[in-house]
Amino acid sequence: MIIIDGSEGEGGGQVLRYACALALLTGTPFTIENIRGQREKPGLMRQHVTAIEAACVIGGAECSGLAVGSNSISFRPGRVTPGDYHFAVGTAGSTGLVLQTILVPLMTADAPSHLVIEGGTHAMAAPPFEFIKRTLLPVINRMGPAVSARLVRHGFFPRGGGRIEIDIAPAPLRPIEGIERGAALSVQATAIVAGIPLDIADRELKAARKNLADWPAEAFATRQLPADQGPGNALLIEARYEQVTEIMSAFGKLGIPAERLATTAARRMAGYLASNAFAGPYLQDQLLLPMAVARGGAFTTVKLSEHSRTAMALIERFTGSRFRVSAQADRHLVELIA
Ligand code: AMP
Repeated sequence: MIIIDGSEGEGGGQVLRYACALALLTGTPFTIENIRGQREKPGLMRQHVTAIEAACVIGGAECSGLAVGSNSISFRPGRVTPGDYHFAVGTAGSTGLVLQTILVPLMTADAPSHLVIEGGTHAMAAPPFEFIKRTLLPVINRMGPAVSARLVRHGFFPRGGGRIEIDIAPAPLRPIEGIERGAALSVQATAIVAGIPLDIADRELKAARKNLADWPAEAFATRQLPADQGPGNALLIEARYEQVTEIMSAFGKLGIPAERLATTAARRMAGYLASNAFAGPYLQDQLLLPMAVARGGAFTTVKLSEHSRTAMALIERFTGSRFRVSAQADRHLVELIA
């Protein structure tokens, strides 16, 4: 039984999701205390409960303490059973983060799975759908499995109501090799609005352009969704290379000027473009778990995030693997060395 202090390191929901995934992958039970101890409102939120329930359902696991607001759970994994599953967060909580909990166990299972996940698809502090489809899954698929994703309906904060569908054809994982990006292919910034004025999207693109001054005018586009999928707003800034596609995002929030959100996302993209790294600030932590299961591999990334540091420490505890991080001229190299 592994005992985890959920307030250590990054101290958020990711510790919990990766602990569930690692428990299913290794057969090791765990107890976590001080759940999300570094967050403003600690304890389990609706989306975390759904993610853990999903891990219980696909993994025949038993879990005690599972309730909204709970600060501690114990999780005892069973056997992973692939199949057709439907999970609904019930709020705008992230569909992508429910997927983050169960994807790796299902993509190394012994038969295919089909998942329907309902909730938020474009909300703060979580991967938007496009990141999953165009940034994460192409790297995963290069490792062996065939995982495809479909966005059926957008779900924004606070309403939710989004729906994604995922098909997973498992395969043993080959080590990741993500060192160089390869040649630049295209760039694109899309400001999406649903049920709110298009002017917000225009303002976001204008702010983004100031920080991506060498991108051509035609790379910036607005997209209006049917009003019944809103209210909502997302900005997706994408750079496509031969070996990897990176997406930085911003999500409209009441009380925060659209320009400020867009500027932050555009600066993040500018930082990535200037770095010569394969993985940006979010892809890095999401590659660590598949890398550990593949028992090898290496990728380059921008400055190491606290999410990555925390995930590495957790993976090392469950698997006995060791990561090594070394600084290079304009990027960092992350390797699994044992
Ligand atoms: P936590 O903050 O602990 O709930 O974990 C959030 C997870 O979502 C981490 O795996 C992050 O890498 C990922 N994430 C957060 N924001 C984004 C974003 N804008 N794009 C892609 N992934 C994200």
